[in-house]
Amino acid sequence: MEQQFINCGYKIVENTKEADIYVINTCTVTNMAERKSRQMLRRVKELNKNSILVVCGCYAQVASKELEKIPEIDIILGTNEKNNIVKIVEEYINNKEKVERISDVSTQCEFIDFGDVTYTEKNRAVIKVQDGCNMFCTYCIIPYARGRIRSRKIESVVSEIEKIAKSGIKEVVITGIHVASYGKDFDAEGKKIRLIDLLEAINKIDGIERIRLGSLEPTLIDKEFVERLSKLEKICDHFHLSLQSGCDSVLKRMNRKYTTKQYKQATDLLRDYYPNVSFTTDVIVGFPGETNEEFEETYNFLNDVDFYRMHIFKYSQRKGTPAEKMPKQIDGNIKEQRSNRLIELSNENENKHNNSYIGKTVNVLFEEFDNGFFKGHTKNYIMVNVPGTKEQENLFVNNILSVLVEENREDTRELEGKILK
Ligand code: SF4
Repeated sequence: MEQQFINCGYKIVENTKEADIYVINTCTVTNMAERKSRQMLRRVKELNKNSILVVCGCYAQVASKELEKIPEIDIILGTNEKNNIVKIVEEYINNKEKVERISDVSTQCEFIDFGDVTYTEKNRAVIKVQDGCNMFCTYCIIPYARGRIRSRKIESVVSEIEKIAKSGIKEVVITGIHVASYGKDFDAEGKKIRLIDLLEAINKIDGIERIRLGSLEPTLIDKEFVERLSKLEKICDHFHLSLQSGCDSVLKRMNRKYTTKQYKQATDLLRDYYPNVSFTTDVIVGFPGETNEEFEETYNFLNDVDFYRMHIFKYSQRKGTPAEKMPKQIDGNIKEQRSNRLIELSNENENKHNNSYIGKTVNVLFEEFDNGFFKGHTKNYIMVNVPGTKEQENLFVNNILSVLVEENREDTRELEGKILK
């Protein structure tokens, strides 16, 4: 959206500054995200009472009726209207009539291609290749906000990444709502294209040196996939495999489509092919009905898989999902205790893994200079710091250099080392 405004001659200002038009791209994944979206739109209107306030995105998609009650909002757009945002805003400027455009995402079957609008964080470009989700996990609102799976054509992804590579960026992150489903919607056109086909095409692009995968579902990881993947030398050996619970009965209530046994097989298979692999994951604690025994099963399973890092979420009731109405909602204190135990386990694991790198040589793609250190990541996503001075920026930033790891900074859980001559 930012790129569309820039293309039409608008100037982008920081969100804390006075502007003529504010666009709030809302999130709906939790009730808290919705609350933050509401707070934000009130705050920006105070910066300039005469500004045009546009609210778009997932919260607008699923709860436009709530937003209609907020008089400060001038334009409400659903998730499918974002690629027309400038035109809609300019219509409003001419007519001064409130606008509300929300289309039915459940019938949308084409990926809306925004063109080359890469979001770059530091020296890494994030490429969206897919939208929507057909999985309907019982706690999740996303399928209602984003609709069914739609994949971006391989040619479009490749063309964008070729341009990114020419601009000097070396790492791309492949993301989507449910990346594991990439290509399944092309089946209806008689084409059998899957994520691995897309990755093979990206791997051939000159200039790109690392391909990082966003969150994947374990069901994608079978022998054929891993064999083909392991032949792509640019793939990063860091996999974020979404788990959510390490207990089969809870997974079933969540409507997740795998068992812990299948999950473990997926990680074992990846370990066979990638000796330095690091796994990260998401876990929800306090899902409705989660007993102490079920939680202990999760704890033991997490211990067994030996993740590098885990992102722990306390279950929160999401309006409009089946889990909201499930019996035996869990008390907040219990969720807190369970969350703390898993955070502790995650910290211990991260520390243990980081210690194992001391004295070893790693290759780091440096991203930035911060406070006397150049910072970057290894291929398996471990943060490494090397002391330096601002004048050395050209030597470091956006270059892959070999580093001898000397220290594990326990407070920040980052590694420190020196460049090998
Ligand atoms: S896989 Fe489940 S958690 Fe992920 S977006 Fe789809 S419904 Fe939500």
